[in-house]
Amino acid sequence: MTRSDKHENLKNLPGIDHLLELSKKNKSFLDIPRSVILESARTALEIIRKNILANIETPINDDTILMQMHVLAKEKIRPRLVNVINATGVVLHTNLGRALLCDDALKNITRIAQSYSNLELKIETGKRGIRYEAVDELICELTGAQSAIVVNNNAGAVLLALNTIAENTQVVVSRGELVEIGGSFRIPDVMSKSGCILKEVGTTNRTHLKDYETAISDNTGLFLKVHASNYKIEGFTASVSLKDLVSLGKNTNIPVMEDLGSGTLIDFSKYGLPPEPTVADSVRSGADIVTFSGDKLLGGPQTGIIVGRKETIDQIKKNPLTRALRVDKLTLAALESTLKLYRDEEKAIRKIPTLRMLTLSFKDICKKADLLFKTIKKDISFLADIDFADLNSRPGGGSFPELNLPTRCVTIQPENMSVSKLEINMRLATPAIIGRIENNQYILDPRTIQDGQEAIISSTLAKILIKNDQ
Ligand SMILES: *Cc1c(COP(=O)(O)O)cnc(C)c1O
Repeated sequence: MTRSDKHENLKNLPGIDHLLELSKKNKSFLDIPRSVILESARTALEIIRKNILANIETPINDDTILMQMHVLAKEKIRPRLVNVINATGVVLHTNLGRALLCDDALKNITRIAQSYSNLELKIETGKRGIRYEAVDELICELTGAQSAIVVNNNAGAVLLALNTIAENTQVVVSRGELVEIGGSFRIPDVMSKSGCILKEVGTTNRTHLKDYETAISDNTGLFLKVHASNYKIEGFTASVSLKDLVSLGKNTNIPVMEDLGSGTLIDFSKYGLPPEPTVADSVRSGADIVTFSGDKLLGGPQTGIIVGRKETIDQIKKNPLTRALRVDKLTLAALESTLKLYRDEEKAIRKIPTLRMLTLSFKDICKKADLLFKTIKKDISFLADIDFADLNSRPGGGSFPELNLPTRCVTIQPENMSVSKLEINMRLATPAIIGRIENNQYILDPRTIQDGQEAIISSTLAKILIKNDQ
C-alpha cells in the first residue's frame, strides 16, 4: 500500500456517529448499553487504523466493522463471576468459592433481601437492636458457649479478638502453629496488624507446657493456640493440649484463645472421617475465646464466628474494629438457616452440601461414577479411552490435612489430543469444567459433581474432542 492509499483508506473510515446509527437498527445490539457500543466502535476503528498503518489487509465496510463491534461489546458485557463445574473432588475449594449454600439458606437470603427486616430493630421495644442477635443464641446453643459474635471472615475474627484481648501485650504461640493459610493469612502478620507482640515458644516439631510457662512475663496478654489446618507434622512431635494450656492460663491469670480454622459442629468420626475437635470440645476445654470460619466445614456463608466468655465477647462488641468487620444481612440470613439445620444432625448431613459431599459413602460415589461413566461413554466412546480409577478426594479448605477420602473417578485418555490440552479446553468451556490430571489421565471426581452436571460434562467433552477430530 502506498502512502496515499493508506491516507485514502484512513479517510474513508466510517465515523462513530454513523456506526452508532447503524447499531440502533441492528437487533443484535438491542440489549447492549449505548456506552458499551460507543466504546466498542472506538476500539474497532482503532484496530482498523492500526492495521492500515501496519499494512495489514483489513476489510473496511460497515458490516464487518459492525460485526467486530458486536464481538467487542459482547466480551465487555460478559459476566465475570460465573458458575464452574467442580470435578476436582476438593469439597472446600477456596478458588472455587468454598462451601455451597443449602437450599434453606438460599430461600432465606431471598426472603430477607427483598424486604425490610428487623436487622437492627428490637421489634418489642421499637428501639435499636443488635444485628448479631439473629444468630448468637443459636450459636451458643450449638457450641455450649456463653456468648458469640459473627464477623466478615475468620481472618477478621482472629484480628479482632487479638486486638481486643491483647493489644500491646505479648501473645505466646507455639512455633509449630505459626502457620500460613492460603496466600495471605499468616499468623505472625495478623498478630502484628492487631497490635500484639508475638512471643514464639518451643520448636517447629515440639512444644511443651514448660515452654509456655517460661515465656510468661509481666507483659503476657494471651496464650494462643492455632489449628495447623493445612499441614501436619509427623514423627517426633509434641504439642500442648488446649486443656493443659487452659489450666496454665487459669493459674497465671492469662486468657487462652484458640483459632480452630475450619471449626466443625459435628463429630465427623461417626462418618468414617478422622476425629477433629468440635467447637463444643474447645469451649468445654475452657478456652476464653474460640474462632472459626463459616464457609469451611460448617458449610455456610463466608463468616468468622467468635464464641467464648461473655465478658470477652462484650469487650469485642465494643471494639471499633467490629464495625469495620461486620457481616451483612444476606450473610446473616444464610448463616441462620444453615445453623438451624444443625439442631438435627441427620438433616444437616442431608441438606448441607459440604457435609453431604464429605460423608458420601463409597457406594454412593460409585453410583455417581457409574452414571458419569455411562453418560460419557455414550457420547465419546470412539474418541477416548474411558475408565474408572479408585483414587482419593481431598476435603480442602484447610480441613483434615493430609486426609484422603476414597473415591471412584472417571478417567479420560483422548485419542487425538494431549491430556493437558483437554484439561485446558475443559477449563475454557462454558461453563468451565475443572478437572485434574493424574498419571497422564484426565480425571473427573464425582464427589463434587452436582446432580445433573453429568450431561453438561459429557457434551462439553464431546464438543471438544469432535472439533479436534475434524
Ligand atoms: C482458614 C483459616 C483462617 C482464615 O479463615 P477465613 O475464613 O478464610 O478468613 C484462619 N485460621 C485458620 C487456622 C484457618 O484454617
